[in-house]
Amino acid sequence: MNIHEYQAKEIFNRFGVPVPKGYIAFSADEAVENAKKLGGSIWVVKAQIHAGGRGLGGGVKLARSLDEVRKHADAILGMTLVTHQTGPEGKVVGKVYIEEGVDIADELYLGVVLDRAKEMPLMMASTEGGMEIEKVAATTPEKIIKVAIDPSIGFQGYHGRVLAFGLGLPKEQMGVFIKFASALYTLYMQNDAEMIEINPLVKTGASTFVALDAKMGFDDSALGRHPDIAAMRDITEEDPAEREAGEFGLSYVKLDGNVGCMVNGAGLAMGTMDTINYVGGTPANFLDVGGGANAQTVAKGFEIILKDPNVKSIFVNIFGGIVRCDRIANGILEATKLVNVNVPVIVRLDGTNAQEAAQILKQANISNIITAYDLEDGAKKAVAAAKGERA
Ligand code: ADP
Ligand code: MG
Repeated sequence: MNIHEYQAKEIFNRFGVPVPKGYIAFSADEAVENAKKLGGSIWVVKAQIHAGGRGLGGGVKLARSLDEVRKHADAILGMTLVTHQTGPEGKVVGKVYIEEGVDIADELYLGVVLDRAKEMPLMMASTEGGMEIEKVAATTPEKIIKVAIDPSIGFQGYHGRVLAFGLGLPKEQMGVFIKFASALYTLYMQNDAEMIEINPLVKTGASTFVALDAKMGFDDSALGRHPDIAAMRDITEEDPAEREAGEFGLSYVKLDGNVGCMVNGAGLAMGTMDTINYVGGTPANFLDVGGGANAQTVAKGFEIILKDPNVKSIFVNIFGGIVRCDRIANGILEATKLVNVNVPVIVRLDGTNAQEAAQILKQANISNIITAYDLEDGAKKAVAAAKGERA
């Protein structure tokens, strides 16, 4: 689960990671009130959406008067903000964060992610703050300094020194930076975060460090331990089809291909997507119907897959282990009565009672149901059907 910048900064504050002062606003009036509460004479009006690159898209604006605060808030609230992370359709802005303007001497980058290969949190720093870090990683990877932190030891001074030396910080700023990084590590661990990104981490004119931007993502499986963070969920930021799938116990992720996939088990679902790619197609989604697939879950699966107008065929790839294939075959037939399935459905059922299942589908004799005898055969038929051909 991801949260907004203003929510991440609230957590930063609690853990002693310095952030500029700010308040969230849902209207231009509230934005002006917040600016008055903050005092000072320079404010920044920041669109709150779950995506980066807001500045370039026109979602972060500096204001030098209360009139400008109002003008910017008016313009940003309700706008459809398009950034490199939102996709071309963009995201509608429902709230703005009003923050004190910070005197920026230098923009750095600091982040923590989970390094799955090392099985440790990885802290990364770079002098190239304020830019897309993916671009820095691709063009000048040597400008990203990385330290893996063994959780059984925790963050130590030497971790901080590796990063501080790498950033070329002068001696008198090292202590402050190391304290900042140490607090960030504690915050990452204690909240079961999956990633934290501060881009930019700002060195101010007064030589202190402030998190000017804050992105946080959490391990969904650990949210039960953090009701305060679970409460920060903003469902308006989530894909409606993915949310609906979740409510029915289906795990669905929309992708941009045209072959819909309905599979039981996450591993088989990944293998199915790989095979579709391997035979020259592109999957439209990941969908794991889970271990207890029945007519209702299959029908819901069809419904969710077919919400995506790009879907030109559906590959049902189910291994009957806990569930029997004949029940799935009947489930598919029933589901096609519940949902108008208007694209070819390629069915590969293997495992317990696979023979009976094939018989059931054959007898039903439904023109848009095509049976397949193994994974590759099914993938080929599904990819061909998506192209309007028959394999
Ligand atoms: P995004 O990464 O989504 O574009 P940021 O929060 O990083 O959004 O803001 C973009 C840029 O706007 C920053 O790199 C910084 O130059 C400027 N900025 C953001 N917040 C402030 C602030 N409080 N004071 C001064 N400048 C800011
Ligand atoms: Mg940023």
